[in-house]
Amino acid sequence: MSIALNLDHSTAVRPAVASRPSLIGLSKAQIASALVDAGITTDRESRMRANQLWNWLYVNGTTDFDRMTNVAKPVRQKLADTFILDRPEIVSEQVSSDGTRKWLFRFRDPANPLYPPVEVETVYIPEQDRGTLCVSSQVGCTLTCSFCHTGTQKLVRNLTAGEILGQVLMARERLGDFPGGQRPDDGGLVPSGDTRAITNIVMMGMGEPLYNYENVKQALLIASAGDGMSLSKRRITLSTSGVVPFIEPTGREIDVMLAISLHATNNDLRDVLVPINKKWPIEELLDACRNYPGLSNARRITFEYVMLDGINDSDAEARELVRLLAGIPAKINLIPFNPWPGSNYGTSPSSRIERFADIVNKAGYASPVRTPRGRDIFAACGQLKSESERLSKKDREALAG
Ligand code: SF4
Repeated sequence: MSIALNLDHSTAVRPAVASRPSLIGLSKAQIASALVDAGITTDRESRMRANQLWNWLYVNGTTDFDRMTNVAKPVRQKLADTFILDRPEIVSEQVSSDGTRKWLFRFRDPANPLYPPVEVETVYIPEQDRGTLCVSSQVGCTLTCSFCHTGTQKLVRNLTAGEILGQVLMARERLGDFPGGQRPDDGGLVPSGDTRAITNIVMMGMGEPLYNYENVKQALLIASAGDGMSLSKRRITLSTSGVVPFIEPTGREIDVMLAISLHATNNDLRDVLVPINKKWPIEELLDACRNYPGLSNARRITFEYVMLDGINDSDAEARELVRLLAGIPAKINLIPFNPWPGSNYGTSPSSRIERFADIVNKAGYASPVRTPRGRDIFAACGQLKSESERLSKKDREALAG
């Protein structure tokens, strides 16, 4: 049974006031120039001030300029008058019987404050020795992978770098990962000992991260900055359905681990399961993987393969998968299909999944079967969705006056 929490919103919820720009999601250099542009610091002081702010935002998790005790009071006041440190509003927080936690976060559109807010889901998957945050990059998705619930929600808009980071910051706050923070006491799990609650990030939530490349890049570079949140790039995984032109830049510019939603071993089937395959078919996708910067046995690509009963789970397909991946340092994640309302697929029986895993494994690939997590709260892989809808042209024009 899952728990839906009644939160004390007094500290957790901070609706964004979109009339002032947010500093969250800006690089340190961008913060420095925003301070100069706003007349808050001189050019000479701006680097020092940006460093101070960075530390408060990302090391201490501060959301209130007034707590920045090493910043002079009049400067704090000017900062508060000019900028915000917005985080998403928590619309709901659910804890699964297995300890998985799902948030529905709400954001206002910073570029269009009059537009209705949008909502995305973010999931926390705790284990004994680590905790993984599954982060969304878009509200809805333009792609229509036929096994994925998110794919039934039309794209509303890309999230900004600040909104992508906002999910991480809010989750860290709720899980007590900032100095002085408290672990939640509500039945949700967190790793034991001194381990941070969030040790890993996967860009596997709502949306195709490589269709929002610049914002995802900026957010991940900030999340992994050594003088900030300092999340290891080896523990950040970006998952793509196969946007081939952005695969090489992901490795070169962001330098994080790569996962590919493969799910089929021939183009006819992949065209149906992951329709972006019609644009970049399997051969092109795997070529891009072979050329992923920094690829080595220590830095393998994860191939995700959802196990769909009678669709893609035969012995022949397991052997074909092995053949296709020859020469790519890889790990294959077998994901039992997680049903959602209206889905047309069934989950492969466990004996079938074991047999498939065995063939892949004997060929020398690690092929863990992903234990479904958070199914009771619809937090499992491919189940995320929100109610946000794109405004019609007429409504946008009406709001623009
Ligand atoms: S699997 Fe990813 S890319 Fe495909 S529809 Fe779902 S969210 Fe979009």
